[in-house]
Order: sequence, then structure tokens, then C-alpha cells
Amino acid sequence: MTFRVNEGGQSYIGGRYVSSTSGQTHNVVDPSTGESLATVELAGPAEVDLAVAAAKAAFGDWSSATPSTRSAALIELSRVLANRAAELAEVESLQAGKPIKLTTEFDVPGTIDNVAFFGGAARNLEGKAAGEYSGDHTSMIRREAIGVVGSIAPWNYPLQMAGWKILPAVAAGNTIVLKPAELTPLTSLLFAEACTEAGFPPGVVNVVTGRGSVAGQHLVGHPDVSMVSFTGSTGVGVQVMKTAAESAKRMHMELGGKAPFVVFDDAHLEATVHGAVAGALINSGQDCTAATRAYVQRPLYDAFVAGVADLMRTVRLGPTLDPSTDQGPLVSMRQQASVAGFVERARVDGAKIVCGGQIPGGELARGAYYEPTLVTGASQDSEIVQQELFGPVLVVLPFDTDEEGLRLANDTPYGLAASVWTRDVFRALRATREIRSGCVWVNDHIPIISEMPHGGYKASGFGKDMSTYAFDEYTNVKHVMYDATAVARKSWHRTIFGDR
Ligand code: NAD
Repeated sequence: MTFRVNEGGQSYIGGRYVSSTSGQTHNVVDPSTGESLATVELAGPAEVDLAVAAAKAAFGDWSSATPSTRSAALIELSRVLANRAAELAEVESLQAGKPIKLTTEFDVPGTIDNVAFFGGAARNLEGKAAGEYSGDHTSMIRREAIGVVGSIAPWNYPLQMAGWKILPAVAAGNTIVLKPAELTPLTSLLFAEACTEAGFPPGVVNVVTGRGSVAGQHLVGHPDVSMVSFTGSTGVGVQVMKTAAESAKRMHMELGGKAPFVVFDDAHLEATVHGAVAGALINSGQDCTAATRAYVQRPLYDAFVAGVADLMRTVRLGPTLDPSTDQGPLVSMRQQASVAGFVERARVDGAKIVCGGQIPGGELARGAYYEPTLVTGASQDSEIVQQELFGPVLVVLPFDTDEEGLRLANDTPYGLAASVWTRDVFRALRATREIRSGCVWVNDHIPIISEMPHGGYKASGFGKDMSTYAFDEYTNVKHVMYDATAVARKSWHRTIFGDR
């Protein structure tokens, strides 16, 4: 192992590593081998209190720093991260089971681009232009930082999620305490360390490495946390909202997804097949926007199923650090058992497993691997179609009319992302209008860019990550109104004093 995590896997608070007083530790495991990578001390309420206090102390100076000061720190951070790109890619691959191809070409450069984007955006935070709207007053809008943000992140894209949570918050002048997922805390710690190296003042970015039910819960309910920003499953998100609501905190929720992949009968078959396999298997399917439900118009259905099965069989499972690996393990043995359970229950219910559906043996048996899997014959109301499964499993269902395809696409509680595949511009326009989700791709599935917002409809949450839309979440809008008449008796005083 070439990476250095920290002196003892502690939380990162006030610009340095801090030991936990909880006495509890968590073993971070490489899911491709089951071997231990690092032992992390779990933060308890005491460390959360310390981190919130550090963030609170840093807020005054950071929120009143000029945009160019915050921008300079972010731009320097993008340089520091770029210098450490190989280390970040390796650690991310090892802790989350991601193929090194994915972390090298997607997770790490995507994060660095996001940092650079917010380095520029920090200087473009603006309110509405001042003006006279009543005739007697001049109004202006101030956009102000909210305070200490408490953020909770999931395990599927640990580094990117750290970036998505931290960057818009600190670019807008907030300070932050991030709690990464227990399974994958290492790159969030490296990110915080890089912030210090880049010149961020102590306390602006803090990371606590505890359990959701202890450190997460304490952070979300903390009286000095002004806003809660959560990315994770809808079930946990609802719990977090209840806790945050008790102290009327501002909230930003990025929750689960079950993205439809709608193929109309005029679509380019080869493009749909490649798009479906890549869109379903990215990050072993542990992607909140992954293609999970393909609805294919009847004339293309058989060819699509045959093409996807053939292509899935060519996907190479292997160790995460092997550059030829296409698909790594799932994040944990627990996740593997969960995915296998979904597929097995679908099989028992009469669905057909066209390919995959197995835990591979041999060398891969010690890791949390699961074969790329194609399922047909499931009913629209079955759990494998309705519920988030988070594994390399694509379910395909046929449809006849365009109306039916769009209705089925909208028929789950989720609304994070979707794609439509057609060469007919009118069909595409109609589908992008009617599908209820935060993102709709046309003839592709998965790409994201720093300039565009990411966030859900329906049970997929509310609020936006990335892009300048994220500033709407992380700022308060203040109306400031100046009297423009300089007279003692204002015209509206008539409502009190009458003619006097
Ligand atoms: P999860 O909901 O199990 O956990 C998310 C985080 O919440 C973890 O850090 C966990 O420790 C913490 N947590 C658990 N209980 C808590 C509590 N009571 N109080 C505070 N924090 C608590 O999610 P996961 O399994 O880590 O990640 C997968 C999920 O994340 C999927 O549902 C996926 O769709 C979602 N996700 C959504 C997006 C998006 O942008 N919408 C992006 C990535 C992942």
C-alpha cells in the first residue's frame, strides 16, 4: 500500500487530526479482498461538538472574507488535489471497490474540476440589482452565508460527495462539518487535509468519522448547526429530516434514485445497448442515477435484450487496481447479500435472469463481487422495479405506445434521473417535458458536469448540488430596503395617522 491516511485514522478538526474519546474504532476494508485497509477512530458526540465549535469559530472571518480570498483558496485546492491525484484515485478505489479506471478518469478529475468551478463561482455570487420598486424606497438583495453546515455523505462516491457537499458551502462563505459514510471515510479525510495544505483557515472544513446513528444524528440535531445537507438513501434522509426539523434547520436532501432508460422504436440500437450496459454497471450499479429500469418499445425489445446480454457477458470483473478491470466488487459483503436477495426474490416471483445473477467463485469469491445481471419478465409493481437495489442489475420491460412508456418511466416514488433514446426530436421534447426527474438525458445516460445542477424530484429529494444553483441552497437571501424620500412622515403612515 502506497498511501498514507493519517497518524491513526482520527477525525480532522480545526485543521488537524484529533483523536476520538469514544474508544470505538472502525476497520475500513478493501471489498475486493476483505482485507483491512485502515483502522479509523469513530467520532462520538464529543468530537462532533469540537468540530462544530471549530466551524462556528471560523465562520465570522470566512464569511466576511472577500470572494477573491475564498476563490484563491479553492483554486489552490484544485492544484493540491491535482498533485495528489494518483494517491486519491488509489485510496478511493481500495476503500470503495472502484476500478482504478473509474477513479482515475471520473471520480478524481471530476472532483478537481468541481473545485476549480467553485473557485470561479465564488466570485460570482450575486443578488438582484438594486432598484426602486415602491417609488419611495431603494431595495437591494444581499446573499449571505448561512452558518455552520452539517453534512452527511454516502459511500458510493466518497470523494465526489465530499466535494459536492463542501465546495458550494465554503465558496458561499459557510463553514462545514462533514460526516462521511463509515465504510469509506479515507478520501474525505485526505480532502480536508488538502484544504489545510491549500491555505483554508482552520475550522472552515472539518471531517468527523463516526457512525450515522451516533455522530451523524448528533451533528444533525446540533443547536449550532444552521443547515443540514444530506446525501444518502431516502429512508435515512427522512429520519435526518425529522431530527433537523426539531430545530427548524434549513435542509438540502439528495436521496435515492431508480432511473428509467426509455428506448423508443426509432432509437439507434447499438447506442442503446452500449448506453444501457455502461449506465447500469457504472460503479457496479451503486450510482443513484444508474440505469436500472429499461423500458423498450416492442419492435426493439428482443434485439435490445439479446444485445445487452451479449455485451454484459464481456464485462471483466477483477481487482480494483488492475487497469483492465471493468467492474469491481460491491462496497461490502452486506451489499452483495442485499443485491443477491433482490435478484433471488425476483427469480422466485417468476422473472427470468437472462444473464448473471450469481456471486462469482474462484479468486473473486473472497471479495464482494456480483455478476452483471439482466432481468426480464418482472412486473412493474415488483420490488426489483420499484425499489433502489444499488447493484449491477438491469431490469428490462416492454411497452407499446409512447404514452405507456412515459407513464411507466414515472411510475416509482423516485425522480432523480432518466434517459430517453430516440432519433425523433418531437418524441425527445415530449419525453424530456413529461418525465418527472431532476435530470433527463437524450441518447446518453450518466454524464454530469460541474456547470449543471444535480438533484431530485419526488422521493429523490430537493435542492441542487454542483453549478451555481447550489448557492441557492447554501445562502440566505436578505432584502435590504432604504427609505429614498428623507421625509419624516412617509406616505404609508396615513394607514395609522389618517389625515393628521
Ligand atoms: P445511507 O442512507 O445508508 O447513509 C448515508 C449517510 O447517512 C451515511 O454517512 C450514514 O452514516 C448516515 N446516517 C445513517 N443514519 C443516520 C442518522 N440517523 N442520522 C444522521 N446520519 C445518518 O446511504 P448509503 O448506503 O451510504 O448510500 C447509498 C444511498 O445514497 C443510495 O440511496 C443512493 O441513491 C444515495 N445517493 C444519492 C445521491 C443523490 O445525489 N441523490 C448521490 C449518491 C448517493
